[in-house]
Amino acid sequence: MQGGGLPVSDLLNAYAGVAGEDVIDHLGQLAAHYRGKRVVHVNSTRVGGGVAEILLKLVPLSRELGLDVHWEVLDGSPDFYRCTKALHNGLQGSPVALPAGLVDAYEQVNRENAERLRPVLEEADLVFVHDPQPAPLLGCLPSRRGKWVWRCHIDLSRPHWPVWRYLRNHVAGYDASVFSLASFARSLPHPEYLVAPSIDPLGDKNVDLDDEEIDAVVRRFGLDPSRPVVAQISRFDRFKDPVGVIQAYRLAKRFVPGLQLVLAGGGADDDPEGEAVVGDVRREAGDDDDIHVLLLPPDAHRTINALQRAADLVIQKSTREGFGLTVTEAMWKGRPVIGGDTGGIRLQVVDFHTGFLVNTPEGAALRIRYLLNQPELVREMGAKAQTFVRENFLLTRQLREYLTLGIAVLAGHGDRIELG
Ligand code: UDP
Repeated sequence: MQGGGLPVSDLLNAYAGVAGEDVIDHLGQLAAHYRGKRVVHVNSTRVGGGVAEILLKLVPLSRELGLDVHWEVLDGSPDFYRCTKALHNGLQGSPVALPAGLVDAYEQVNRENAERLRPVLEEADLVFVHDPQPAPLLGCLPSRRGKWVWRCHIDLSRPHWPVWRYLRNHVAGYDASVFSLASFARSLPHPEYLVAPSIDPLGDKNVDLDDEEIDAVVRRFGLDPSRPVVAQISRFDRFKDPVGVIQAYRLAKRFVPGLQLVLAGGGADDDPEGEAVVGDVRREAGDDDDIHVLLLPPDAHRTINALQRAADLVIQKSTREGFGLTVTEAMWKGRPVIGGDTGGIRLQVVDFHTGFLVNTPEGAALRIRYLLNQPELVREMGAKAQTFVRENFLLTRQLREYLTLGIAVLAGHGDRIELG
């Protein structure tokens, strides 16, 4: 990640450069409320997964603002991870069973970690506990003196009830909880906050690229730069509807000769479902040389960045979607997005402004044709999309919301938050 290698003092300037000076000033004002206070984040891994990705950026940025922030990670056992995997699946709706032995391991690992982390956690003023893995820590530390917030990053909209009932016992005692979308929130006996995910504008996935690097990727994948390109970058998953994207491309191509389609996603070697979807996609694509199905390695961040920039339009035709970071990423690059009318895509794609919401391949084709025939409109909507992301979905906004809700929680949830 580009930001990771910078000296810390340059980090704030780098964020000011993309998010605006005023955003950094505002963060500084909020940070002033944390003088003398210790904030601790706890999750279950330092690398891999969205939570670690965010904390890797959020913690240094918070420190640069003068906060006394710590990031602690659970030590787990194989049975602990088996249990948390089952919990995760159950909370997202799979009808899983939680065997007593695994639940014991889950609770035991939390007790052991509570002992190990007791000095830092008991003394902390504000603790953010991320996701279900460390949720029982709270119950293991009755002498804690600070406020505790449970930050749920997963989709709890349709949980398997026995699993949620079990976890709810561990999270009900928190002072507050945070969900990514309103539809993910569940009823709890404390204040609940909504904080949407965000992207890091300084990371390899989103940082500005020069034309040479984009051209090199275009050449590498055999795209013709003189003809229009639409792209969907996504795991090969049926909910992302890649076959529907091909159908939309075919319908649009009747009116936009020369149209090219990129469908790029991760390799599917260890995912039988993914492999089957890639098979469906290849069958649907047939021998059309203008459909580019690309299997990318997991660290292809700059390649994805370049593909999103090389595309005239980005599609995310999901039929079900939690948030859809690929939508944010494309919008940040000034691309209007034709997105499925579902989940978090609706938060990002403002119909007729930052893109179009669609429900069918026909609808997507109509919008592809409409936009590609009006390059000026593509530029206008792309600019709006980028502004919308700058104001709503950058890491700096997520930190601002954490700092603001932390002040409210520390103040005991008065009706007002006084900012100096
Ligand atoms: N992504 C990636 N490689 C791929 C496909 C996707 O790195 O081959 C990234 C994509 O850029 C985005 C994330 O994975 O940052 C996917 O997040 P999103 O919320 O769009 O969907 P999810 O896969 O979590 O359902």
